[in-house]
Amino acid sequence: MKRVYCLIGCLLILLTAAHCAADEKLPTAEELFAQNPAPDVPLTCDPRMDPLLVLVNKEVGLPSAYIPELTDLNLPHKPGVATQQMRPVTAEALGRLFKAAEADGIKLGVVSGYRSYGTQKSIHAKKVAQRGKATAELTSAPPGKSEHQLGLAVDVSCASINYRLNAIFSKTEEGQWVEEHCAEYGFIIRYRAEWQRVTGYKVEPWHIRYVGPEHARLVTSLNIPYEIYMDYLKLCWDSRPHLPVSGSTAQP
Ligand SMILES: [Zn+2]
Repeated sequence: MKRVYCLIGCLLILLTAAHCAADEKLPTAEELFAQNPAPDVPLTCDPRMDPLLVLVNKEVGLPSAYIPELTDLNLPHKPGVATQQMRPVTAEALGRLFKAAEADGIKLGVVSGYRSYGTQKSIHAKKVAQRGKATAELTSAPPGKSEHQLGLAVDVSCASINYRLNAIFSKTEEGQWVEEHCAEYGFIIRYRAEWQRVTGYKVEPWHIRYVGPEHARLVTSLNIPYEIYMDYLKLCWDSRPHLPVSGSTAQP
């Protein structure tokens, strides 16, 4: 019995240590700013106001009436799924990403692009009914809180896993290609397992968000959640001499 308690104790210590290690790995925005207050990325306006950088998460939402400019994604997609749409800049970048993947022998498929407030509302309600609110919200954003409403996020998968949106995507060669190359085309992997404390979501290797190549490369090399990156950019912007922004409200 003593042995069992000892074993449980050791396990708890190990788990706590692993948890702390994951937490410790994340630098704060202040630490990043102290290390590099002027990163080599385009920062032409307050990042909170930049339509391509705007942060959407469980705390920061979009109005129900917000609809971005959209264009059809003329790209391979999951069989049975209707043609998806995204913002033109993202559609173009995703097209280049798919083309580069194909040149490397990698075939990706679009599963879900832009989603309206109304679509997100019904998806979310269904998941809450199936799993309960707390569990559902680890994988499904409430309406107004989804990056898909921005038209800048897309879910991609591949035939070998029947285009499922599952963590196993990261083990496929298609998922590994996306992980390795998506930043070159301006996309970041938004939700990683070790960032759940910050993002509020479980790992989603299939969900990529467009922020432009320069920012995507920096976020990826810093290996930090976008929340911390935006806090870091705000510090960089605020430290610059500029005229104050009056009556500022987020205009994604
Ligand atoms: Zn997604």
